[in-house]
Amino acid sequence: MFNTPILTNSPHGVMLMPLLPNALASVLPTAFDADQRYSVDLHMHSTASDGALSPTDLVTLCAGRGLTHMALTDHDTMEGVEEASRAAQQAGLCLVPGCELSTRWQGINIHVVALMPGGLQGPMIEGLEQQREARIKRAEVIAERLEKMGLPNALEKARAQAGSDRPLGRPDFARALVAEGVVADWAGAFKRYLGSGKKGDVKAHWPEISEAVGWVVASGGVAVLAHPLRYGLTRRKRGLLMDTFMEAGGQGVELVSGQQNPDATRDLARQLVERELYASLGSDFHFPGSHAAPGSMSPVPRTAAPPIWQHPRLAHLRDAPSGMLGAKPLNKLS
Ligand code: AMP
Ligand code: MN
Ligand code: MN
Ligand code: MN
Repeated sequence: MFNTPILTNSPHGVMLMPLLPNALASVLPTAFDADQRYSVDLHMHSTASDGALSPTDLVTLCAGRGLTHMALTDHDTMEGVEEASRAAQQAGLCLVPGCELSTRWQGINIHVVALMPGGLQGPMIEGLEQQREARIKRAEVIAERLEKMGLPNALEKARAQAGSDRPLGRPDFARALVAEGVVADWAGAFKRYLGSGKKGDVKAHWPEISEAVGWVVASGGVAVLAHPLRYGLTRRKRGLLMDTFMEAGGQGVELVSGQQNPDATRDLARQLVERELYASLGSDFHFPGSHAAPGSMSPVPRTAAPPIWQHPRLAHLRDAPSGMLGAKPLNKLS
């Protein structure tokens, strides 16, 4: 049912150059053709969550790197989207509103990127409110545990690191642990206290993956399974995760997230094709100087999995390189 895209790299990052079969051409903008190239990054963070750059500075950086399409996908919030969309309008690139939802599956913390072409609307409004409350409660539990392990006043210290009143995340606690000299560096903080399976990896507050995917799909969005190679799953278990995700209505998977082993990527592509899932990609950019700059990901292999681009809910954005949502204003958080 899918046409075959050609995905290649360029100095600016990864280009998606879908070749459109006649069957699809009718639903896609006529200006789009194989000669027109797009440079895309659909997974990035700003100061609205644990990123270092303000939404405006992030958009400016992306524009400077030649991106034509970007998604802002902060953890469990779309608070940065309005600012980013204004900056995108100025910079002349297409901003896809989004977020990255924290969820649970079989006791594992799984992330789902929500691409929300209509902005924050529908059940996602309530869903993100629930995530906000969950994050606040979770921070209290993380703080209690870290206090027992030798970091007094952990909540206040993490708050000071956050530098704003946004709900706290594990990176804020990681910085506090480093600042207090409990660990030597950020990596050590995750390895000993906050990473998968450690005391500070508190997951109980997150919804089941199916519930979160349900919010996205019912709100006009496209749900994308984030960085599937980063959960330490066997191939078989990763397949089961994808099956659950699809049964809940999930539509895409990040085929490439930041830097990946090429063999693992090709193998992952086969799992997408088997399930007729769309392929997404993103740097998971958090801060300048890290290994993945906006738009700079590992190469995307040739694959029969269609780019997420071609999903009917996103196809109209392809030729909207300025601003984002056309006429439709973003619904603000209540
Ligand atoms: P949270 O959303 O509070 O669960 O924090 C998750 C974030 O912490 C991720 O998005 C990364 O930015 C960071 N993170 C998680 N695990 C690690 C790790 N092992 N090493 C470094 N950073 C990590
Ligand atoms: Mn993060
Ligand atoms: Mn993630
Ligand atoms: Mn992320």
